[in-house]
Amino acid sequence: ALNCGIVGLPNVGKSTLFSALTSAPAEAANYPFCTIDPNKGIVDVPDPRLAKITEFIQPKKVIPAICEFLDIAGLVEGASKGEGLGNQFLAHIRETGIIAHVVRCFDDPDVVHVAGSVDPVRDIETINVELALADLETVEKRLTRTERETRSNDRDAAKKAQGMLPLLQRLKDGLSQGTPARTLGFTDDELELMRDLHLITLKRTLYVCNVDEGGLEGDNPLVAQVEKVAAGEDAEVIRICGQLEAEIAALETPEERAEFLAEAGLEQSGLDRLIHAAYHLMGLHTYFTAGEKEVRAWTIPQGAAAPQAAGVIHSDFERGFIAAETFHYDDLLALGSKQKVREAGKLRIEGKNYIVKDGDIIEFRFNV
Ligand code: GDP
Repeated sequence: ALNCGIVGLPNVGKSTLFSALTSAPAEAANYPFCTIDPNKGIVDVPDPRLAKITEFIQPKKVIPAICEFLDIAGLVEGASKGEGLGNQFLAHIRETGIIAHVVRCFDDPDVVHVAGSVDPVRDIETINVELALADLETVEKRLTRTERETRSNDRDAAKKAQGMLPLLQRLKDGLSQGTPARTLGFTDDELELMRDLHLITLKRTLYVCNVDEGGLEGDNPLVAQVEKVAAGEDAEVIRICGQLEAEIAALETPEERAEFLAEAGLEQSGLDRLIHAAYHLMGLHTYFTAGEKEVRAWTIPQGAAAPQAAGVIHSDFERGFIAAETFHYDDLLALGSKQKVREAGKLRIEGKNYIVKDGDIIEFRFNV
């Protein structure tokens, strides 16, 4: 699933961030396939290139790419044992693409900490142990089934099961230590074999340090602790100030927000950084279509070839794909018009094996 689940202990700032993220929801009319759910937020992916493109082409409409976030509250110590509706929440996490794990790095005597003190490393461990235990349960069930299958009369099935056993055992050993599966050093082939287990701790993770306003820049010992944990498990880290984001989100116009950011000496809001980090961690990037009617950013998996990219617009485009007339945003910016890009020989006709790049501007040719 191409979405990002927001997890973390209670009172770390998850709902503050989620409300700020969804205060300006994406225009639902553009996304008829999206269902409405209070815990789900479809947000625009901010992309300054869209505004630039519309300086060259004046379209009737501009449509940004989108990204989906899920607010997964209720994860507490003991969740994997079913405490605090724990299992239900774990089921939601299983369905997400990546995880944004919010960690409290702000001091505030008015906000009670569930464990009594601010200690991001302990908090991360508490959540990760619950997630690992949830995965352990999944793996143990599968192990029992696979052991039975090794005694099957179907020799191929028995052989396959035999091959899976050491892998499952390795998972079990790691997870029972509370270690996330993504840090156990599996090869791509092994990962493929365990894909249908849908393990939570295999998902890519972004630690979101919720800091005091003063902690956004420069050295921050609490953030440094989180960075150390993240380095050990191939995760990413960003810092954000939930309170500040809530204030920005409460402003009415984009102009007011821009002014607020400028006064705070910030280039981008923390939410913008969060959205970008999540988008990239999901393995996504953007190409554009640019016509008089509309300029639009489309989301595709990194590495997608031209027909697959066309299919995001319409399945007919993929089925009837002929070619992709392509140039790059950077060339448009440097040369000033599509005509000049063409004259410079930078407008190319690409075929079905072309791997679309982030920032390509494409017009597809297809048969219907
Ligand atoms: P959740 O339980 O993780 O969803 O946490 P909430 O978003 O409800 O936040 C818990 C409390 O912390 C609320 O009273 C928020 O106003 C407060 N809070 C959230 N972010 C910040 C922050 O960056 N700084 C401070 N001082 N308080 C915050």
